[in-house]
Amino acid sequence: MDWQTLIRPELEPMRPYAPGLRASEVRERSGLDNVLKLSSNEHPAGPFPAAIAAIAAIAPHLNRYPDGSCRALKKRLAAHWGVDERFLSVTNGSNELLRLIAQTVLRPGDEVVYAWPSFVVYPMVCALFNAKPVAVPLTEDLRHDLPAMLAAITDRTRLVFLCNPNNPTGTVYSRAEFDAFLTALPDHVLLVLDEAYFEFVTDRDYPDGLTYFDGERPIVVARTFSKMYSLAALRVGYGFLPEPLAAAVDKVREPFNVNSVAQIAAAYSLDDAAEVVRRREENQEQKTYLYSAFDRLGIRYAPSQANFVYFMTERPVEVFEALLQHGVIARDFGNAPALRLGVGTPADTAVTIAAFTAIAGQLGSI
Ligand code: PMP
Repeated sequence: MDWQTLIRPELEPMRPYAPGLRASEVRERSGLDNVLKLSSNEHPAGPFPAAIAAIAAIAPHLNRYPDGSCRALKKRLAAHWGVDERFLSVTNGSNELLRLIAQTVLRPGDEVVYAWPSFVVYPMVCALFNAKPVAVPLTEDLRHDLPAMLAAITDRTRLVFLCNPNNPTGTVYSRAEFDAFLTALPDHVLLVLDEAYFEFVTDRDYPDGLTYFDGERPIVVARTFSKMYSLAALRVGYGFLPEPLAAAVDKVREPFNVNSVAQIAAAYSLDDAAEVVRRREENQEQKTYLYSAFDRLGIRYAPSQANFVYFMTERPVEVFEALLQHGVIARDFGNAPALRLGVGTPADTAVTIAAFTAIAGQLGSI
């Protein structure tokens, strides 16, 4: 077999998604007992108590296929958000939704506009469907440059991804900025608002994508249970989509794309509004401690509306390694002069700040 001929040539330059280091790997390598995995923007606590009980309750029933239409979860989501369930798609993580939307709309040669740096999956779906990635650099202060993104839109643009808060920088664009963008956005473009970190936002000027969703305009709002709700391992995300698009996604997705453990755990996570508030406040508080430490050590960072902080360093490789030596796994971006650090528990924050203080002492500066 000539594998080169068999496999689609557009896959050749692609690289598999590279996840952050796993805590077990680092524990083995370093011999440290206490390793903090702050590299994948996960919540440091486990799932909500009601979700854990639901997961246990469904275990004896796993001989059955899941509900392929996720009816119960869609009903809960529809009631929770006050949006009709016909606009909902539930997927195997919001990652799957991003790919399914791309698969549903992209033809070879179509252009896809997104900010950079932003979520790595956007260029990946472009490569997968032979679309042209149009990456628009963030502004100096690491925010979406919405006017530049508008200017990058052509007749060939099919999709625009906006990640708000942005991964990896944690920055947001404001309601006024978004309103101006939306007014000028040509109507042949599908706008995907990736709001994976929505639940962590405290900025009152944040434009909640759902308030712009009316089921008519070509807008998709993608959300996830992986972050605030601590269900990353189960893989469950969802989106609000105009009906024709939701119907098209239904044709393309696998018959049972969301497993029943994920469906029930997600449904039982939704009612605990108090826990969401508690976690959001704790996350916010931990970030202020990290910011104070960074200020004290002269480390530049982007103020974050998410559960991670992006900080600048001229020596990303050295600092990444030094953090590992202290049992802290950050996220690196090759040679980019920055690293991303997830927000952990209060105890994790204390360990992290001690590590930064020690490293700044060792290296002179970060
Ligand atoms: N969007 C963004 C911006 C993300 O950071 C992530 C996870 N890293 C996802 C989507 C996908 O998350 P999931 O598939 O777990 O819902």
